[in-house]
Amino acid sequence: MKVVTTARELAAEWEAGRRAGAVIGYVPTMGALHEGHLSLVDLARAECDLVICSIFVNPLQFGPDEDFESYPRPVERDLELLTARDTDVAFLPGWTEIFPGGERVLDDFGTHVSVPRLSHQLCGRSRAGHFDGMVTESLLFLNLVRPDRTYWGEKDFQQLRIIETLVADLRLPVTVVRGATRREPDGLAMSSRNKNLDPAARAISPALRKGLEEMRAQVLAGGPLPAVLAAGRERLGSLGFEVEYLVACEEEALTEVADVTGPVPVRLFAAARLGGVRLLDNIPLSGAHHG
Ligand code: AMP
Repeated sequence: MKVVTTARELAAEWEAGRRAGAVIGYVPTMGALHEGHLSLVDLARAECDLVICSIFVNPLQFGPDEDFESYPRPVERDLELLTARDTDVAFLPGWTEIFPGGERVLDDFGTHVSVPRLSHQLCGRSRAGHFDGMVTESLLFLNLVRPDRTYWGEKDFQQLRIIETLVADLRLPVTVVRGATRREPDGLAMSSRNKNLDPAARAISPALRKGLEEMRAQVLAGGPLPAVLAAGRERLGSLGFEVEYLVACEEEALTEVADVTGPVPVRLFAAARLGGVRLLDNIPLSGAHHG
C-alpha cells in the first residue's frame, strides 16, 4: 500500500492507474477505522482495480462545541488495517494540504456547497452547518481523487442521500455505491465514537437498534406510527437515552411521514445520546429498500 499525503502524489497514482486502464474506487473516511469502513474497502476491492481510501478529520463539519480536537486519530493502526484489506493507496493529507488558509470553519472557506433540501432535517436540526461542511469537503476530495466509484455507508443515511443528490444534480462523473450498516454482534451500529461509551452505557447501547426493530414490527402489525414512535421514545428515555429524534422518513426525500401507507420506501431514523455519546441508527421500515 502506498501512503500519500499530497494532492500531487495522489494525482501521480491516479495517472498511473488510468494509464493501466484501472477502474478507480474511493472510500472517504475520518479514520479510527472499524469493520463498517473496512466493509466499504472490501466492496471497492471487489469492484475496482485501484482502491484509494482517504483519512481526514474534516474540521468544516464539526461545530464549535463538537469533538474535532478529541476525535480519535489512531493512524498507525488504521494503516495496518487498510494494508490487511488490500488497499492500494491511503491518502492522508495534512490539514493545510486541503485548506491552505488553515480554515477551521465553513465561514472561513471561500466556497460553500449545499444540498439544502436534505440538510435541515434529522441530524441537520441539531448540527447546524454540519452537512454543508461535509458536502463542501466531500466535493473537494472527489475532485482530488477523481474516482469512478465512491463507497458510502447506510449507517449515515442522510449523509449518503446528500452525496447521492450532489452527484446526481451536478452530474458528477462518479457512481455512488451504498454499503450496508455493519453492526457489533449485539446489534450496535459500528462507529468510531463507540469507544467513548463507558461499560454501563455500552451495555445499554444495543437497545437503540432493538427498539427500532420492535417499532418496525409494531408498525408492520398495524400499530399507528405516531403512537408507536411516542412509546418508543419513552421506552428509550426510560433506559437512559436522551432521544434527539426518532422519526420515520421517506428514504429518497427524507421527509417525515405519519404513516406507511404510501408507495415509497420509508425508514426509521434515530439519534440519541447515551452517557454523553451521540449514537445514530436507521433501519428500513417499509417498501422496497436496500437493506
Ligand atoms: P466516517 O469515518 O465516520 O466519516 O465514515 C466513513 C464512511 O464509513 C461513511 O461512508 C460512513 O457511512 C461509513 N460507515 C461508518 N460506520 C459504518 C457502519 N457501521 N457500517 C457501514 N458503513 C459505515
